[in-house]
Amino acid sequence: MAEGAAELSEPGGTQAGAGAPSGRVNLLGLARTELEGFCAGLGSRPFRARQLMNWLYKRGCDRFEDMSDLARAFRSELAARAEIAVPRILTTQRAADGTCKWLLAGGAGQAFEMVYIPEPDRGTLCISSQVGCALDCAFCSTAQQGFNRNLSTAEIVGQVWLANHELGSGPGSVSGSGSAFGRGSAFGRGSAFGRGSARIVSNVVLMGMGEPLANYRNVLPALRIFLDDLGFDLSRRRVTLSTSGLVPQIYRLAQDINVALAVSLHAPDDALRSELVPINRRHPIAELLAACWHYIDEQNGRSVTFEYVMLDGVNDSPAQARALARLLAAHPAKVNLIPFNPFPGTSFRRSSEGAIQRFRDELIRGGVIATIRRTRGEDIDAACGQLVGRVKDRTVVRLGSKMAAATRRRAAQGAVRTSAPGRTAPRSHGA
Ligand code: SAH
Repeated sequence: MAEGAAELSEPGGTQAGAGAPSGRVNLLGLARTELEGFCAGLGSRPFRARQLMNWLYKRGCDRFEDMSDLARAFRSELAARAEIAVPRILTTQRAADGTCKWLLAGGAGQAFEMVYIPEPDRGTLCISSQVGCALDCAFCSTAQQGFNRNLSTAEIVGQVWLANHELGSGPGSVSGSGSAFGRGSAFGRGSAFGRGSARIVSNVVLMGMGEPLANYRNVLPALRIFLDDLGFDLSRRRVTLSTSGLVPQIYRLAQDINVALAVSLHAPDDALRSELVPINRRHPIAELLAACWHYIDEQNGRSVTFEYVMLDGVNDSPAQARALARLLAAHPAKVNLIPFNPFPGTSFRRSSEGAIQRFRDELIRGGVIATIRRTRGEDIDAACGQLVGRVKDRTVVRLGSKMAAATRRRAAQGAVRTSAPGRTAPRSHGA
């Protein structure tokens, strides 16, 4: 794979970390009002912020000297006081099916990943919201890495900026001149997204590393920039936030913004879900579903997509499909079945194709729209749940064991009845 392609295509921007070591303000990721405030602080009028956003997000410009409709004095002032900093690319890999995966520097030896999935009618970027993840889902390789830190808004927004830049820019671009998305070498540095035409990333999914709702403070402003007509101007149906089920934050999201919601359900009953997705011990299925229906009501949304990873002999029986259909049939819900993607050390196995199809058919018979997610980028470990980055674990106790201990404590106090919780041992062991 094209390891080290970064050298060829690194943009002019510096690295976007949690802070700005240069002392300059990183304009990437600033909300429209913050940018207006910043311009006002430099003695400029607020409409300059609109011009700046146009350069940043529409034209992919990362050099103030190229922003030709800004007064020269204002440009030099910007160069002294501000920067446009995106995450630094460590490696680029391209899969046989055109999927691209980038490893991005997260500072202090940390790294996180983003994945671009080209399709004939759209280009989907799967972005990370945290370095690692603390939620400890049993079947996810990111969980095995532990958690290090939240990404900043600039780092989240910077992923979309960077992918547009890398895929749309000139000779250093990974898309190559023959690709439908590659715009050849006509666009020099300074305006790398293509000449005001449709940008390469048409859909953004927060399904990379991390739990986006556990980084609410930085994720919400990033979502606003994705939707803002002066930002990336993406339609709300083309921005999807996927959560393992942080119920209070789903209620907050319902008040704050309207994007497509995906929920990692993975089991039709609390006993199994608590083992696969430990946060279920705090927010069980009934609570989670109530939050989902509330979100749809508040946001006039069309439906919630429930992700369901297909684990051989664990959650893939026809009876479990019927139980899932009973939970969802009367509601605005779709189910997306994800064939399990294995990673070193896991004892879970992917359900057979036949089992996955039977599960889907059973859901449809039960009145639920169901699809099977096509696995992409497997040869470069870019598929769902395979993103690992480089994470120095700073979690003190794994959420799974912490939740199990809390449940045991409550049970001992007579508050709940429980069967012994703990990590699920799949019935059969894989490679
Ligand atoms: N934390 C968020 C988003 C990240 S994971 C969430 O839990 O939704 C994106 C999706 O991939 C989730 O549905 C997750 O459960 C699923 N996933 C994780 N590991 C997987 C694996 N090994 N194979 C297939 N899907 C997996």
